[in-house]
Amino acid sequence: MIQTPHVLKIDKLDDPAFVHGFSTIALGSVGLTHAPDPVPVLASRRAFARALNIEVEPFTTVGAVHGSAVARVDEPLDVVQGVDGLITDQRGVALFATFADCYPIVLWDPNRRCAGLAHAGWRGTMAGVAKVAVKAMHDEFGSAPADIRAGIGPGICGRCYEVGGEVASQFDARFVTPGAGDRFLLDLAAANRAELEEAGLSEVHVLGICTKESDFLPSHRRTPDGTRFGAIVALR
Ligand SMILES: [Zn+2]
Repeated sequence: MIQTPHVLKIDKLDDPAFVHGFSTIALGSVGLTHAPDPVPVLASRRAFARALNIEVEPFTTVGAVHGSAVARVDEPLDVVQGVDGLITDQRGVALFATFADCYPIVLWDPNRRCAGLAHAGWRGTMAGVAKVAVKAMHDEFGSAPADIRAGIGPGICGRCYEVGGEVASQFDARFVTPGAGDRFLLDLAAANRAELEEAGLSEVHVLGICTKESDFLPSHRRTPDGTRFGAIVALR
């Protein structure tokens, strides 16, 4: 029997100075917003931190409003409202966001020792949240985009993400394929990869695991019950 992993990582981002990971349902839901009881959610979050071998509380959480605002974090905060991206150069800060089909994007600059985390659904992708996070790392910490290594975590894939024409028409045709009837299929991972490459990044690693097709990850499209997986980014 194959056991469900507790945490997924992008191997190519492995670095002793950088912590990142994506929780699975083996750790339980880490989303508070729709949770009937916060106690098990907070326990799942602690288990997630333990699985990554970090001791940071509270998590500094992306408020997530499907926009492109990015905030710099210098000390542990609770929820940062009104943003879809956070960046830091401080050890002792754990950037955190929750997802159920939207994509986590992790950023790491080993040269300037700073990192970022973005939440990208179709609106955030359209608004350029990944690009804004790269620019924020440049403006705040002096990162050269070419030094930043990016990872695109689990999310709904380009075969599963059905959208209407009003959404599809906002994206470049190379990210859109025809779906059933008058629907379209949108590849958000590819759109974000292209966005990051246009911003000057040379290393963009896509995990390539679809939330809708993977029972061990929450998917709003598969089961809209409020269950969320989490992403953590921290410096060590
Ligand atoms: Zn899929």
